[in-house]
Amino acid sequence: MSSEKSKLDEMREKLFMTPKNAFSDEFSTEGCFEFCEDYKAYLDIGKTERLCVKETIRLAEAKGFVPYVRGMNLQPGDKIYKNNRGKSITLAVIGEKSLSCGVNIAAAHIDSPRIDLKQSPLYESEGLCLFKTHYYGGIKKYQWPAIPLELHGIVALKSGDIVEVSVGNDPSDPIFVITDLLPHLGKDQMAKTAANVIPGESLNILCGSRPIEGASEKDKDAVKLNIMNILNEKYGICEEDFLSAELCVVPAFNARDLGFDRSMIGAYGHDDRVCAYPSLRALLDADRAEKTAICVLADKEEIGSEGVSGMKSAFFDTFIEDICEASGTTLRECFENSTCLSTDVTVALDPNYPDVCEKKNSAFINSGVALCKYTGSRGKSGASDASAELIARLRALFDENGVLWQMAALGKVDQGGGGTVAMYIAERNIDTIDAGVPVLSMHSPFETVAKADVFMTYKAIKAFFEKF
Ligand code: MN
Ligand code: MN
Repeated sequence: MSSEKSKLDEMREKLFMTPKNAFSDEFSTEGCFEFCEDYKAYLDIGKTERLCVKETIRLAEAKGFVPYVRGMNLQPGDKIYKNNRGKSITLAVIGEKSLSCGVNIAAAHIDSPRIDLKQSPLYESEGLCLFKTHYYGGIKKYQWPAIPLELHGIVALKSGDIVEVSVGNDPSDPIFVITDLLPHLGKDQMAKTAANVIPGESLNILCGSRPIEGASEKDKDAVKLNIMNILNEKYGICEEDFLSAELCVVPAFNARDLGFDRSMIGAYGHDDRVCAYPSLRALLDADRAEKTAICVLADKEEIGSEGVSGMKSAFFDTFIEDICEASGTTLRECFENSTCLSTDVTVALDPNYPDVCEKKNSAFINSGVALCKYTGSRGKSGASDASAELIARLRALFDENGVLWQMAALGKVDQGGGGTVAMYIAERNIDTIDAGVPVLSMHSPFETVAKADVFMTYKAIKAFFEKF
């Protein structure tokens, strides 16, 4: 009886898939915690896409990357980048093989759901000064009141000067808040559905309460005048300058270790800096690149990859075409031989909300980088649906290089869905698949990931750049 049982066990072991954990003996997480310290620093500095691009350039230049200028002579091993209007960036390490053999691309996005100031934002009401806002990306509006907020962005002046604004990240800075209703008077509010609890036009940012010196009771907008005066003294701006400003409000808390075992990170903006940073680091750390390795950090993914800095923009094609020309090949030949990991987050199965996921096809915390063959919704609509052949090649690559990976779907069939930049890259005739870190509380002001999954995503992209 017992020997028969062990024979069945043997068969199971051989024939069945078994779930794996990053902390089993099979995998090395050496360097994982150090890597995540660097990632946390990147998060704290890069709370908007503009700040991410700035920090990315600083890190890349320290590793010998230089801005690409059209017509530049390129040799294997050259490290270049192209800054797209300060909001997205593409970096490349020129490979030993010709670009006609294709390039290996890791494409992440560096914009995150947040709250933007309207173009004419400042007003006074009931003795308080506030900013009108329009939220950016898919947020649950009820999660944003009554948390500390900071402000980042730029004001572009008619003179051509750019004024940078950054308030709240330094511990000595003031912060901001969206107020919420006290429960004592919340009878009507609490009866609303979650989507309607906080109307979009109520996401107003409290930013002052003190009237300007010398104002009397009957002076109109004395608090607003005081705030505008402070802004004028600090930044040299007047109210009209808001019309040509981009000012973003994000949570005013930095990345923190989460759990007694410090195995996780809680932070704002993991989606998708948790894939952007590993993609960037994999490129900076790549020992060698047979094929040219490309890291794309895109903007506007959270609103559909639109616009001049989004993945649909010809900025990407133009840059790749430029470097193709430099090596005597065409863009179409390069693209048809290229492969892309669309490095973006996916949902991790949450024990608080297990019903929205189907367990057999879900990503789990600590089970490594998650591949998604398809995203989309209702019959895979809007998915680029990666090929079985590509997945097989990646299975082999990851298994040979000690990368823990898992296959995942974004929730149960017909439960909802989502998309990434994958479809916009695939339609350029590039084999593309989603690969990234599983996240808890995605799109909330404070998202959670596991350090081991961040590290495995880095190892996966590094192996892809070096050996695929
Ligand atoms: Mn994302
Ligand atoms: Mn997202």
